[in-house]
Amino acid sequence: KEKKSFNIKDSIIQSSKIVKSSLEKNSIDLEINEIEIEIDNYENEFEQVIVNILNNAIDAKIIKDEITKFKAKIEIKIYKEKEEIFISIFNNCGNIDENIIDRIFEPYFTTKFENQGTGIGLYMTKIIVEKNMGGKIEAINKDDGVEFLIKLNA
Ligand code: ADP
Ligand code: MG
Repeated sequence: KEKKSFNIKDSIIQSSKIVKSSLEKNSIDLEINEIEIEIDNYENEFEQVIVNILNNAIDAKIIKDEITKFKAKIEIKIYKEKEEIFISIFNNCGNIDENIIDRIFEPYFTTKFENQGTGIGLYMTKIIVEKNMGGKIEAINKDDGVEFLIKLNA
């Protein structure tokens, strides 16, 4: 596998197709800002990262729906500052408890039932972003949801 140049927005749209039916089924709107930024990196790995984060957002929506049905959104913003590219993925499906937010990237850490979560999604996501792609990822509670912020070298 080799690094190659790809368009970040196109790659995210491609990834979102994998979860399209579950976004629709769970009434989640997905918004991506219109920006054309190319990056030289591992596209397949990047798509895996996006799918993992989208799947977690869908799970968060399903869990919150058990309390009250609502219309959810996932907002993806891609932007560039100096020599860094940021990909922000926000979902408005509730905060992560501050007591566990530091642990969500640990292997096998999950708050889901045994048959619904393995706790390896974000662990793999962090390995891909930080070891393979040379970037950084963090989770930040914001308003009524969570932002996953990925930082990559331009
Ligand atoms: P899994 O999805 O199998 O539980 P992950 O590694 O993907 O494992 O996620 C670890 C934990 O992080 C989840 O169990 C959940 O508690 C929390 N989490 C991840 N994404 C979100 C999100 N968008 N909203 C709320 N909690 C989240
Ligand atoms: Mg997961």
